[in-house]
Amino acid sequence: MKQTIRYALFDLDNTLYPGNCGLWQEIGNRINQYMVERLGVPRQEVSEKRELFLKSFGTTLNALRHYYSVDPDEFLDFVHDIPLQHYIGYDPELDGMLDRLRPQKVVFTNADAKHARRVLYRLGIMRHFEFIIDIHMLEFVNKPDRRAYLKALEFVSATPGECILIEDSPVNVLPARQLGMTTVLVGDSAGMNGAHYHIRRITDLERIQATGKD
Ligand SMILES: [Mg+2]
Repeated sequence: MKQTIRYALFDLDNTLYPGNCGLWQEIGNRINQYMVERLGVPRQEVSEKRELFLKSFGTTLNALRHYYSVDPDEFLDFVHDIPLQHYIGYDPELDGMLDRLRPQKVVFTNADAKHARRVLYRLGIMRHFEFIIDIHMLEFVNKPDRRAYLKALEFVSATPGECILIEDSPVNVLPARQLGMTTVLVGDSAGMNGAHYHIRRITDLERIQATGKD
């Protein structure tokens, strides 16, 4: 990792906890449930609609705000109303790694800060993070929209070259790389997908620090 890196911008879901723990899938189930129960979308149309929404609006929430005037806080509370202890717990390895990681740590997420804080507390890593850049701070202009990254840079008062982005979604990595951030793709996605580095698990980030190129 470059010596000049001052900020590590961490995505939250499926990045700070493993993608196979079931939490992300459950959030997806809650979104489906919301659309059926609160908006009256026929169950058999939900997945097709969500695919279209994601393509045109980046998030289901932005589409639901547009088409159904959904209240974002009500939606976010509903979809994150999940017993986290069934999915994630204290991660001592991650806690230790974050302790040793030099750059300032920030969460940069398309979710809301309330959900982010619950996840960070559950993982036992809240103390490491200077602040959380969430969907409200981004004014619903979320990753992978280039403006979300520019806003994040503004919040941390840093240049792209001073930031490393750690993220599980290949599409969210690309704008960061184009802006000049160092990028790390986390998880089992095949290939590098345009990121500078690819790691299986978040704790492998240290390996980059040890062997990183300039
Ligand atoms: Mg993610």
